[in-house]
Amino acid sequence: MCFHYEGGELFAEGVSLQQIAKQVGTPFYCYSTQKLSQNFNAYRNALSDLNGTVCYSIKANPNLSVVAAIARLGGGADVVSGGELYVALKAGIPADKIVFSGVGKTAEELTEAVRLGILQINAESAAEVEMINQIAMAQGKKANVALRVNPDVDALTHVKITTGTKENKFGVPWQEAHELYLAASKMPGIRIAGIAVHIGSQLLDLEPFRLAFTKIASMVRALENDGIIIENVDLGGGMGINYNVELPPTCEDYAQIVRETLGDMRKHIIVEPGRSVVGNAGILVTEVICAKSNGEKNFIIVDAGMNDLVRPALYDAWHTILPVSKQGIAPIIADIVGPICESGDVFAHERIIEPVQAGGLLAIMCAGAYGAAMSSIYNFRPLVPEVMVNGEEFAVVRKRTTYEEMLSGHVIAPWL
Ligand SMILES: *Cc1c(COP(=O)(O)O)cnc(C)c1O
Repeated sequence: MCFHYEGGELFAEGVSLQQIAKQVGTPFYCYSTQKLSQNFNAYRNALSDLNGTVCYSIKANPNLSVVAAIARLGGGADVVSGGELYVALKAGIPADKIVFSGVGKTAEELTEAVRLGILQINAESAAEVEMINQIAMAQGKKANVALRVNPDVDALTHVKITTGTKENKFGVPWQEAHELYLAASKMPGIRIAGIAVHIGSQLLDLEPFRLAFTKIASMVRALENDGIIIENVDLGGGMGINYNVELPPTCEDYAQIVRETLGDMRKHIIVEPGRSVVGNAGILVTEVICAKSNGEKNFIIVDAGMNDLVRPALYDAWHTILPVSKQGIAPIIADIVGPICESGDVFAHERIIEPVQAGGLLAIMCAGAYGAAMSSIYNFRPLVPEVMVNGEEFAVVRKRTTYEEMLSGHVIAPWL
């Protein structure tokens, strides 16, 4: 009951969204602490017999309070940039629960990761392994390194979020991984800590996971036959959520696949869920600016735009859109669109929805992951506030940026 109606009014836990809108203005993101905890604990409980660590993938939502909530629950973090590493530490996640992923880490980012002695750096190429070796030697250290291998398994998801096939830029090619492990194990700056895989996002079928994990198990056995000990098996993220009518697997179903493919090896299992922890724990609330009709089509124009939530424009994503106050009026069919000067700025095509007049509020559901995280100031629009709710209380956990702040780094060139 994290987002639910009470007497026709949409609530986030015990707080009315109308009330939040009055105080902070629109648009705003709203996160439920309770839902976040439930989603995180579902992973932790499902993996409890597997010696598992849940390393929340910060790129899904890097809000400091969201990450702090994960830290309080005992979670780790998966980071893909120096900025995310900074957020993880600021939120209270210990360095020894942080994994660093990403296809193009810079020397500067790796230097910081090695200095901190994080749980593991997931290297994606021979060149990166060599760079880590040099950096660690310069610090007189051994860096904890895993290879992110590309198992060439199709995640059967949207092409822009498929990462584990030969066509993708991600990971060490399957055929080269074993040899690179042998080479890395001889480098003085490298301690082989584990193996990593991440095949894509919004997976609704467990079979691609089973295929990938089975391949990982066979590679671990082959490496250990050659004397290379693998401690951590990092299975990545990617579990899907229900945006509309999807039927995603449960954490128990997922854990069962892990047990069946890797359970007998008794490794430290790392998972890196992002979307499935924070996706349905957040919504975007927006106000209707005006409704218009051109005789053929109805448009509902709202004050949120693709700069605030780009998923519909970028991934053709469906988001359920609900009136914050139900009027009980017969629904119409309308396009729900933002104010940005782009025809792609559409949240929903031909959606059946109660007609909401100017000033009314709509809630765009399941916007907690890759929502605020991917927002921009395109059209020079301020980043919207992020609000977190906990029972009867709420707090603004990131305030709306001001025009002044938006211009703060700008300088007029001296010759102008
Ligand atoms: C994006 C990403 C994740 C999280 O993916 P979700 O689909 O949000 O669970 C995990 N690991 C890596 C390496 C990633 O790039």
